[in-house]
Amino acid sequence: MKEYSCGDVVPGCGARFTADTEEEMLAICTVHAQHAHGLTDDAMPDALIASIRAVMLTSV
Ligand SMILES: [Zn+2]
Repeated sequence: MKEYSCGDVVPGCGARFTADTEEEMLAICTVHAQHAHGLTDDAMPDALIASIRAVMLTSV
């Protein structure tokens, strides 16, 4: 299980997500970024993906 707090990458955002896999988490984050953070591309920038991977927590 993966856990991610968007506020760790985007200060002030209170959204928290859980997903079974890193790929699923990135898909969820992409949709969240499009709706909550004004992302207009189909995918997040590589730098943002790297930031999310870096702060994503793994739990059982
Ligand atoms: Zn957010």
